[in-house]
Amino acid sequence: MTEISIPENAKKRLDALFEAFQVVAEGTYVYLCDMKYDYSRWSQNAVEYFGLPSEYMKDAGVIWEQHIHPEDRAAYWKSIEDIFSGQDDGHDMQYRACKPDGQYVVCTCRGVVIRDENGNPDYFAGAIRNHGIQGHIDPLTGLRNQYGFFDDLKERIARNRPAVVVMVGIGGFTEINEVFGYEFGNLVLQRFARYLLNDIGNKGNVYRMDGTKFAVICRDMDVDKVRWHYNEARSYYGSGIEVDGKTLTLMINAGAMRLDSFDVDSQTVYSCLNFAYGESKALRQGEMVIFFNKLSDENRQRLEKLQVIRNSIPKGCADFFLLYQPVVDARTERVKGAEALIRWKNETYGMVPPDLFIPILERDRLFPELGRWILRTAILEGKQFVEENPDFVLNVNLSYAQLEKRDFIDMVKEVLAETGYPPENLCLEVTERCRLLDVELLKNTIMVLHALGIRFALDDFGTDFSAVGLVKMLPFDTIKIDRSFVMKIEEDEMERALIGHFTGLAGTFGAQVCVEGVETAGMVEILKGYGVSSFQGYYYSRPVSASECLAYMRSRSEGRGD
Ligand code: C2E
Ligand code: CA
Ligand code: CA
Repeated sequence: MTEISIPENAKKRLDALFEAFQVVAEGTYVYLCDMKYDYSRWSQNAVEYFGLPSEYMKDAGVIWEQHIHPEDRAAYWKSIEDIFSGQDDGHDMQYRACKPDGQYVVCTCRGVVIRDENGNPDYFAGAIRNHGIQGHIDPLTGLRNQYGFFDDLKERIARNRPAVVVMVGIGGFTEINEVFGYEFGNLVLQRFARYLLNDIGNKGNVYRMDGTKFAVICRDMDVDKVRWHYNEARSYYGSGIEVDGKTLTLMINAGAMRLDSFDVDSQTVYSCLNFAYGESKALRQGEMVIFFNKLSDENRQRLEKLQVIRNSIPKGCADFFLLYQPVVDARTERVKGAEALIRWKNETYGMVPPDLFIPILERDRLFPELGRWILRTAILEGKQFVEENPDFVLNVNLSYAQLEKRDFIDMVKEVLAETGYPPENLCLEVTERCRLLDVELLKNTIMVLHALGIRFALDDFGTDFSAVGLVKMLPFDTIKIDRSFVMKIEEDEMERALIGHFTGLAGTFGAQVCVEGVETAGMVEILKGYGVSSFQGYYYSRPVSASECLAYMRSRSEGRGD
């Protein structure tokens, strides 16, 4: 190829032609090459998307070749050579091209050779269609969708560009659809999308995520400004808007996260955002919840740790393990069961308790894999307890998000079948948070699994009074009274009275009562007078390994008779 650099007038001509030729369509890039000088101009968005050195490139074919998948390179190169040697008048081919994050997207590249008046090759002009982007538009709102969001987010992270990422959504949408119809619901979503788009202007991008959720990547704003914008939107929608002649008020929720030189991947950011959004919806009546507002080293470390933990899920749940905390019969004080409690540990971060990762990862798309691992591991390790005591009940915690998955029942059945574990010796613990789920779905899940013999426990009872409604609706076998209720029973008369009410209530619905967080002999003495069925707490044992738990069971059954 020629080494002569392009003269100014030839470059001007190239520019004029390029601009005439440029079609501004998302996902289509254009390129124009002056073949005499092998000097090209490419669309700026291709330069950004693929991380090319510049809009103007000498030997662009050679540069571009580096971005093409090694398996597709030979075909590409042959085509380029044929074009430059005059054997071919253009090309139309598909290949995979690499983005700065190392991922490949499929592209179709079409080009034609334009000849001068003497028939010599003059320009090579063409367009590249990026199939990676084609499916990135949400047909309802015209916004970029989740894929677009992840692409943009990854790019910002790769280039270390700070941003505030927001997830914002409309609450109670099922009702809107039910009352006014689906078409109307669509109108509302379109209106909301337009509002966000106008509001953000050129300071960021808006994306349609799943359901009624949207994401915004704000480029030129700090967290306070973003919050201010959000509060404006919240009061605007909260005070009633008119759509299609009907006035309605919308409750909106939002979670946000500041992205700034965190070494974090896009999926982890998404999990954190989802978590913050969930908190805003469930606990803060729509107030914006910010995940790690401060860029402290501590937060950075927490986030990095979270990412490492998350990434160990696809590696066969490496570095996760289970501990077992014995559950003791209130009357005989013998071990009648144990609760499996997850931990994570590696050399860098040491042991990490579940509170630091379960609430954030439970909505993550990887969580079902971890959930299955927990159940399977608990059952495999728990078999020895059942062999020791045929009435042993193994308690396994569920996240409410697991129950929502359509294949949850099948997953449980599969694990039971594979391990041959008796369903009657398994108890699944759910928390009052599951009231956020569709009650019918939940009821159905519990009924089906109940019919197999699996028991259910309502965990952390007393932390939220709406749990009483759940007890009425769902057939729980056990109610576990939260530690916070028994902490003060030794000194507080009122707390004692409450325990009495709880056991009475549980009895009405045919459930047993387990008290958690039993730490002293004094507590045991008091609780024994209140019709409690079982105890769990440090007074008996902290969570321990499976073999220690077995040893504890044996030590408790020796010499106690019965
Ligand atoms: P939880 O289900 O309420 O589990 C009981 C927690 O109380 C455990 O903390 C346990 O170590 C602690 N505890 C037990 N007895 C006492 C006591 O006498 N005093 C005090 N101060 N604490 C006591 P842990 O293991 O850190 O678990 C925390 C939470 O993480 C659990 O609360 C549960 O919500 C969640 N979790 C743990 N393992 C799993 C799991 O496998 N799956 C899911 N989805 N969640 C899990
Ligand atoms: Ca539990
Ligand atoms: Ca609990």
